[in-house]
Amino acid sequence: MSEYDVVIVGSGPAGSAAAITAAKAGLAVAVVDKATFPRDKLCGGLFTGRSEKAMQAIFGLEVTEDMFVTSNHMRFLSKGRVLADIRNAPPVHLTMRREFDAMLHSEALKAGATPYLGQPITALTDDTLTLRDGIKLRFKALIGADGVNSFVARTLFGRPFDPEKIGFGLEIETPLPPTRDNAVEVDFDAASWGYGWAFPKRKTVTVGVGGINSRNEDMKANMAAYIAQTGSDESLRYKGQYLPFGDYKKTPGRDHILLAGDAAGLVDPITGEGIALAMESGQHAANAVIEALAQGKPQTALSRYMKLVKPIQRSLDQAKMWRLIMFPKATEGYFRKAFERGSSLQMKYLELLAGEAEYADLRGALLRRIPKLGWRLLKHRLGFKGPA
Ligand SMILES: Cc1cc2nc3c(=O)[nH]c(=O)nc-3n(C[C@H](O)[C@H](O)[C@H](O)COP(=O)(O)OP(=O)(O)OC[C@H]3O[C@@H](n4cnc5c(N)ncnc54)[C@H](O)[C@@H]3O)c2cc1C
Repeated sequence: MSEYDVVIVGSGPAGSAAAITAAKAGLAVAVVDKATFPRDKLCGGLFTGRSEKAMQAIFGLEVTEDMFVTSNHMRFLSKGRVLADIRNAPPVHLTMRREFDAMLHSEALKAGATPYLGQPITALTDDTLTLRDGIKLRFKALIGADGVNSFVARTLFGRPFDPEKIGFGLEIETPLPPTRDNAVEVDFDAASWGYGWAFPKRKTVTVGVGGINSRNEDMKANMAAYIAQTGSDESLRYKGQYLPFGDYKKTPGRDHILLAGDAAGLVDPITGEGIALAMESGQHAANAVIEALAQGKPQTALSRYMKLVKPIQRSLDQAKMWRLIMFPKATEGYFRKAFERGSSLQMKYLELLAGEAEYADLRGALLRRIPKLGWRLLKHRLGFKGPA
């Protein structure tokens, strides 16, 4: 049996961030993934300024032209009607996860992590992980970074996520029409409690819809309508995947077994951004393990991790407050109008997407709007149809 200080399950952005951090600190690290790299991952590939900062800090990598398309042209719509077309927005980057994840994985290996690839885990106890071919890895600590359907989370908590609160997304990769501009498109009404996206890449456009699963009776119908709206190739088969949409795990692990990234439910409930939070939480989980092992107290890893990951969880709570303005029927009209007018709300949203602002920076804008929103909610409750 091979022995490691820390075994990391999953080598997406969360797992690779954890692996490189732990390996650079001198721990004996194994990184296990059921896939071999490069592998596909369903994702819009929107890479915000927050992701860029995390990638630089954790991997020492820069945004390069071969890996990213950069755009400062944003277009926001409501069922195809343009609300705002902004050509000088703060820039965002777009990437293909197949290449991006392979790059991060290879950085983790360069730092000294040992790979176990191409087979899923089949059993997990307090100190041993078993792979499908029978290989057993013994660990002092383990980080479950195995995505939304996390085996590790299921082992700890009986299920990987709450089906009532989970999000679901459908996507296609449609050929980039030669006449298409490089606008990053978001349609707020392509799905309920979610949105539609058309993100230009080098050769394709990633077109998708997603939102809270239980609030969308027929996501496939949403997708069909959005594909027609965007003039995308209607013959392509959709791929679908769950995504946590703000429903994070308040206690992300147990003792010396931690969860990071999607496995911990760390995805922004408005923008659907998960890459940055995956890298950040992977790094935090590794740092918690490094400290706990240095103290000879692996069981304290969770309490250390909870302190480090708290700011991310707090920002998701703040995002959930904003979601109450953007998504419910009673207030969505208010949000769309404010957005269309080019109010400060629009600029804040752009800054948020670009990673130049955090939800905490938006608190003032939310408080200012509470009286109007309260009135709208009341009218909606009472069924009052008068002027807005
Ligand atoms: C449709 C859709 C669109 C999205 N668009 C965006 C976007 O534009 N921008 C953004 O920032 N985020 C987006 N996200 C969210 C983002 O994709 C995730 O938050 C991010 O990938 C989480 O990274 P992770 O490392 O936690 O998990 P993952 O990237 O899912 O990696 C998990 C890894 O674990 C491995 N694994 C899984 N199970 C096992 C097992 N049993 N044994 C061994 N290995 C296992 C997998 O092979 C995989 O390599 C989107 C998500 C979806 C579904």
